[in-house]
Amino acid sequence: MWSIMSGPYGGSMPLEEIGWLRRGACRSSDPDLFFPLAPSPLQEARAKAVCAGCQVLEECRAYALRAGESDGIWGGLTPQERRRSRFPAGWRDSAAS
Ligand code: SF4
Repeated sequence: MWSIMSGPYGGSMPLEEIGWLRRGACRSSDPDLFFPLAPSPLQEARAKAVCAGCQVLEECRAYALRAGESDGIWGGLTPQERRRSRFPAGWRDSAAS
């Protein structure tokens, strides 16, 4: 059975993968806080503060890393922070040698 869930993150995602999002602390937050048109340090800090108190932070972070989510704050991480964790410092150097 393929279920779909719409939420603050917009679009449609398979419920089996993101059912935990129903329990997310961001559920009632302004989506612009997590998916701003113009990210800023203040917006990121405010979104991360919501994530810090979220009971599904680990599930959210693991999903975003596994799915390669390229936009928004997920699991308390910015897109840049997620990219860094997928490609640790020095990975280019080891590929070139
Ligand atoms: S960790 Fe953050 S982005 Fe993920 S569900 Fe919780 S509040 Fe939302």
